[in-house]
Amino acid sequence: MFDVVTGGAGFIGSHLVDTLVAQGNEVLVIDSLCAGRRETIARHIDGCKVRFVQTDLLGDGWQEHIEGADRLFHLAADPDVRQSAINPDPTMQNNIMATYRVLEAMRLHKVPELVFTSTSTVYGDAKVIPTPEDYAPLLPISVYGASKLACEALISSYCYSFGMKAWIYRFANIVGDRSGHGVITDFIRKLKANPAELEILGDGKQVKSYLEVHECVAAMLFALRAREMVNIFNIGSEDWIDVRSIAEIVAEEMHLPEVKFRFTGGERGWVGDVPKMQLSIERIKSRRWKPELGSRESVRMATRDLLKS
Ligand code: NAD
Repeated sequence: MFDVVTGGAGFIGSHLVDTLVAQGNEVLVIDSLCAGRRETIARHIDGCKVRFVQTDLLGDGWQEHIEGADRLFHLAADPDVRQSAINPDPTMQNNIMATYRVLEAMRLHKVPELVFTSTSTVYGDAKVIPTPEDYAPLLPISVYGASKLACEALISSYCYSFGMKAWIYRFANIVGDRSGHGVITDFIRKLKANPAELEILGDGKQVKSYLEVHECVAAMLFALRAREMVNIFNIGSEDWIDVRSIAEIVAEEMHLPEVKFRFTGGERGWVGDVPKMQLSIERIKSRRWKPELGSRESVRMATRDLLKS
């Protein structure tokens, strides 16, 4: 099996690469390293298990490398919801344009299968929680969520127009070692800078679902058994946790029992923040995959792993 992984030097991508290499697959990683780190996959590159092409998908010269691939996992993206409300252009370029270019390269080089990492934010402020895959209307409230929904639409059109197959995974919050963004990373960084006080964006009551990255990768590979033309799956845990509890876990794991929490206030932490998010994972569960950890355990495990690294 020859797999291409865009964004394979990033957080989730590098864990996916670990698993694909362990399965004995031939793996090509394409990553600009704008956010990813070569170290995360260096041992595979040095051991000739992974070919690495460092390039921006918005540029040219990488397309011919995907010739002969069986599948392309497209993870490269700008995943920052908060920044997408400040400056939408990087989100548009790295998400929509890059996905279009990936689809075109796949069409020209006849790569038949695409696995795409979408997000819970395509649901916006959903009125049904846990939110199932067929929830409508899809009205994202962040530019990031809108960009991913646009990608989903493009992918569907390419499947129907050019005979490709796709798997679209709408992730909850994925946490774990090598993560460079998100609430846990943010809290650890802030507490290292000031162990006396932690600024928490919003009122701390936002509740969301968190899944540990190894479970996420397992679910991504498991759901490939579905063989429709376009296969959409929510991937998350079965419960949620509020932001204040996450702050408490991080403070506990950093041995800072006295830390004072300072809330910036408001039900949303930032423009585009969805205050309540839990995905229904009944579709993937009905195929006999379910996460072993809940949100609380996932957050604790991720905090420990991040503090060790
Ligand atoms: P990440 O930032 O760690 O990884 C993204 C990788 O893509 C980085 O290595 C970066 O260098 C690369 N990249 C970005 N733009 C590129 C470009 N134009 N050309 C080439 N490489 C480029 O992010 P992540 O958390 O690992 O997210 C992976 C995917 O999962 C993303 O598509 C993200 O939107 C999606 N996702 C993540 C989460 C989460 O909680 N982490 C939740 C929902 C969806």
